[in-house]
Amino acid sequence: MTGPAEVERTRVVVVGGGPAGLLLSHLLHTSGVEHVVLEARTREEIYRTTRAGILEASSVSTLVDAGLDRVLREGDRHDGIALRFDGESHRIDLHGLTGSAVWLYPQTEVFTDLADRAAQHGADVRWQATVTDVLDVRTGRPGVRWTDAEGRERELRCDVLVGADGSHSTCRHSLSEDVRRHYVHQYPYAWFGVIVEAPRSAPELVYTTSEHGFALISQRTETHQRLYFQCDPDEDPARWPDDRVWHELQRRVTGTDGFRLLEGPVTERSVLRFRSSVVEPVRHGRMLLAGDAAHTVPPTGAKGLNLALADVVVLHDVLSRWLSRTGGDDTVLDEYGRRVSDRVWRAQHFSAWMSRMLHSHPGESGFERGRRLAELRTLVASESGRRFLAEGYTGWGPVVTEGAM
Ligand SMILES: Cc1cc2nc3c(=O)[nH]c(=O)nc-3n(C[C@H](O)[C@H](O)[C@H](O)COP(=O)(O)OP(=O)(O)OC[C@H]3O[C@@H](n4cnc5c(N)ncnc54)[C@H](O)[C@@H]3O)c2cc1C
Repeated sequence: MTGPAEVERTRVVVVGGGPAGLLLSHLLHTSGVEHVVLEARTREEIYRTTRAGILEASSVSTLVDAGLDRVLREGDRHDGIALRFDGESHRIDLHGLTGSAVWLYPQTEVFTDLADRAAQHGADVRWQATVTDVLDVRTGRPGVRWTDAEGRERELRCDVLVGADGSHSTCRHSLSEDVRRHYVHQYPYAWFGVIVEAPRSAPELVYTTSEHGFALISQRTETHQRLYFQCDPDEDPARWPDDRVWHELQRRVTGTDGFRLLEGPVTERSVLRFRSSVVEPVRHGRMLLAGDAAHTVPPTGAKGLNLALADVVVLHDVLSRWLSRTGGDDTVLDEYGRRVSDRVWRAQHFSAWMSRMLHSHPGESGFERGRRLAELRTLVASESGRRFLAEGYTGWGPVVTEGAM
C-alpha cells in the first residue's frame, strides 16, 4: 500500500465541526493556538439537520462571552415550562425557582454563528474532510489520516487530538474495548419529531403524558413549530401522513381545559432514537473526547448540546495550560475528565429520570402508570419537587473554569 500523498503538521487537530468542534476552534483562536478542524459534511448539510433547540443560561453565557450575542436578540428566553398530565397543565416557574432561565435558539443557529465566526477569523476549518484513521495517540506525535473532498488521502500530525466527532465517533471507535469503558442504556421508545408550518400553540414548552403516551410541544419561529410524540424506535416516518400526525398529537394533549394544537402542514418528519451513553476515560494518551463523542443523552432533558458546549469550555481551559507548559507533564490533561464528569453524570440522571417519568413503557402495567402519575402529582404539588426539576432543567448554574475554582 502506498503512503498518503501529503503529511501536514499543526498543534491541535479537532475532528468534527459540530457545535463542540467549532466552539473549541473559536476558543483556540482567541488563545492564539494553531489548529485544524476536519469536518466530514458540508456547512449546508449540517445547517439542514434539525436538532436541539434549548440552551441553558450557561451555554448562552459561553456564546455571549465568545462575542456571539445573536442569541440574545433572536433567541426566545423561556422562564418556565409546563408539565401536562391528567388533562391539565402545571407551570414550572424556572426563573422564580432558580433565578435562571433557558433560551429557545435552535442548534442550527448556534452552528451558523460559530461557522460564520470561524470564516471571519480565517480559521482552518476543512469541510468534506473525513477522518478514516486515528494514529499513534500514545506517542507525542498523534495524528489522523483523512480524505478530502476529491477523495485524496492525506495525513495530519499534531501535539494533541480532540475527538468532537459526534455519537458515531471514529475517534472513540479507534480505541480498543479493553482501554475504554462504554456504559450504554437503550430505551424501548423513541421520538417522532416534526416541523410544522403553524403558529405557536403555547408560549412555553409543554411536556405532556397521557394514556396515549408522551408528547412535547415546542416552538421554533412565528411560522414554524417543533413537535414530538413518543413512538416505537422502528417507526417508519413514511407511514405518517399529516392528518395521522395531527390526530396522534391532539389526542395526547387533550384535556378538560380544552387545550388544542394549532394545525398546519408537516414540513419535516424523522424518528429520533433514545440512548444514554458515557465513555470513560475521556483522555487516551494525546487524544481527548468531547460532546456526543464522549456521551449521549435522550433528548427529554434538553441536555445534549449544553453538555457539548460545557465540555469544551473546560477542555479549552485545560488545553491552554497544557499547551503553554514548559515541562512535558501530560497528566495535566486528566483534569479535563475529572472536571466534566460530575455534570455529565448529573445530566445522565436528569435525562433518564425525565424520560422514565413522562413516557409510557410498552406493556406498562396499571401499577407502573399509577406510580408515574403519582410522581408527577407529588412533584408539582411540592415547591422542593418543582425546584429540583427547575435546577436540573436550567443546568445547575455556570460551568466552573480553573480561575473560578
Ligand atoms: C438526529 C439528532 C437529533 C437530535 N435532536 C435533539 C433534540 O431534539 N434535542 C436535544 O436536546 N438534543 C438533540 N440532539 C442532541 C444534540 O444535537 C447533540 O448533543 C449535539 O449535536 C452535540 O454536539 P457535538 O458537536 O458533540 O456533535 P455533533 O453535532 O454530532 O457534531 C459532530 C460532527 O462530527 C462530524 N464527524 C463525524 N465523524 C467524522 C469523521 N470521521 N471525520 C470528520 N468529521 C466527522 C459530523 O459530521 C458532525 O458534524 C440530537 C442529536 C441527533 C444526532
